[in-house]
Amino acid sequence: MTVLILGGTAEARALAGELADRHAVISSLAGRTSRPLLPAGEVRVGGFGGVEGLVAFLRERQVDALVDATHPFAARISANAAVAAGRAGVPVLHLRRAGWVAEKGDVWHRVRDLGDAAGLLPRLGRRVFLTTGRQEISAFAHNDQWFLARSVEPPEPPMPGRLVVILERGPFTLDGERRLLAEHAIDVLVSKDSGGSAHKLTAARERGIPVVLVDRPALPGGEMVATVEEAVDWVTRKRDSA
Ligand code: NAP
Repeated sequence: MTVLILGGTAEARALAGELADRHAVISSLAGRTSRPLLPAGEVRVGGFGGVEGLVAFLRERQVDALVDATHPFAARISANAAVAAGRAGVPVLHLRRAGWVAEKGDVWHRVRDLGDAAGLLPRLGRRVFLTTGRQEISAFAHNDQWFLARSVEPPEPPMPGRLVVILERGPFTLDGERRLLAEHAIDVLVSKDSGGSAHKLTAARERGIPVVLVDRPALPGGEMVATVEEAVDWVTRKRDSA
């Protein structure tokens, strides 16, 4: 089968690795990072040109199954995937890692969006560790707290006036997260509820500092799984029923 994986996540790379010896796998990346980690199989980079472009791609490349394994906050491409797959008559699966669940000792403030996160910060702390990704830093441009922001690529203005940026790509270790919070005297953490490795949340819990957690955008309806294994099974079932 020809399987198109919409990627940009560790799960998408793992899935491509699992499927590449049995199927023709095409992974699609948005092109946001200049040196992306490349998955096994064919890779294409850049937007499709909306729903129409994705429908055309699915037809041209005779895609048999589409797996949307994009980041839980990449809402537009997920919505486009659902609509385009429907139009092209291609089965689609959304692979979304599970969100985080609070543990004893966590002080979490769940907010609907980044604007609400920015509005809440003055009440919670003065030295903020921002781990939302560079595209979201501008939401905090009018805050006067001190910010430490971590992203893969440098952020672009508008940005908060008092900002230090660390350019780093995960995975991060628990010790590293502890060190970072201590070195910079961080008293509040801001994160999207991305799921996956949660060392920063553990380090915040240990330190007793609050976390502002931005809720996930809604997913389009349709089939959804949370793990790479389940996605492999789904592709296998589609092949068997083809
Ligand atoms: P988005 O807002 O949902 O998508 C915006 C546009 O970018 C889409 O309409 C599409 O352009 C293009 N696009 C997005 N993902 C694509 C893909 N895998 N292949 C081809 N085109 C894609 O997405 P985003 O939030 O900017 O995220 C972009 C990518 O970064 C995603 O692939 C995601 O997995 C990854 N990522 C996102 C986050 C995050 O926090 N949002 C974090 C880590 C990784 P067209 O309409 O022209 O097709």
